[in-house]
Order: sequence, then structure tokens, then C-alpha cells
Amino acid sequence: MRNRLRSTIKWGGTVLTVLLLVVWVGSAFVYCGLDGLPTFEVSVSDGAFCLVCEHPWSWSPLQVELYHGFNGDRKLWSWWFNSYSGPGGWNGDVSWILVPIWFVAVVLGLPTMWLWHRDRHRTANLCPKCAYDLRGNTSGVCPECGAVREARER
Ligand SMILES: [Zn+2]
Repeated sequence: MRNRLRSTIKWGGTVLTVLLLVVWVGSAFVYCGLDGLPTFEVSVSDGAFCLVCEHPWSWSPLQVELYHGFNGDRKLWSWWFNSYSGPGGWNGDVSWILVPIWFVAVVLGLPTMWLWHRDRHRTANLCPKCAYDLRGNTSGVCPECGAVREARER
């Protein structure tokens, strides 16, 4: 059961990371977003997720619409976080935050890679802690670092 959960997380993380990288590269050419008029907006464009919030917040007339299109301006590409809060927008003040997509991919991808790495040790019968070769080891305790090996679930 724990094995299945781990494998789900591992594969889910891998698929999500790859998806994010595709979206990241794609965002150089295509932009898309969700417009919740008149108060919020979520979009993907030029290498970043963008969250926009208008003040004062109002629910009416709230209409949600999807939009998309092609980018022309490469100068807008975002490598790093950015945010703004101040005058602007449709009805007063506006706040927005840019989250670089590569960053989200790395945050998700690193633990996923670690899981893959760990599982490779497991299947190769290496100590999950110090990678000592445990083939032929019957005690379940690593002679190198003393780590107790999990019972083999299969
Ligand atoms: Zn060990």
C-alpha cells in the first residue's frame, strides 16, 4: 500500500514536472488565462504564472472567461518572481504577482527525482541510506551504516 502511494506520487510528480516544463517553453509562444471580471485574473505567459487581483474586490458583475493568443514580445520573459501593488487596473488599485514556471517545475521535480533515485537503490538492493550493496544480506541491517532495511514489499 505504501509502495503504491509512493509510486503514484513518483509518477504524478514526474508527469506534472514534464507538463510544467512543456507549459514553460510553450509560454514563450502562446499565452492563455482566465479572466474573472472585474476582480481577478490568472494567466500563463512569457515563462511565468501571473495572478492579478483588483481592488476593491467586487463580485458583480462577475463574468469568467478564458482567453488565449500568440505572443510577439520576447522582452516580457520572466526568469524570476515579480510583484506589484498600487494604482492601476480597471477600478482603482491592482496587485499582481509573477511566479516563474521553471521554479515551480524545480520545486516539484527535485523531490520527484529524489524518489526515483531512492527507488533505484531499493530495487538494486542497495542500502537506501548509504547505498552499500546489500545483496546476500539476510539480517536486514546495513553493516556499513546500521540502517534497518524496510521489509521487502512486493
Ligand atoms: Zn547503509
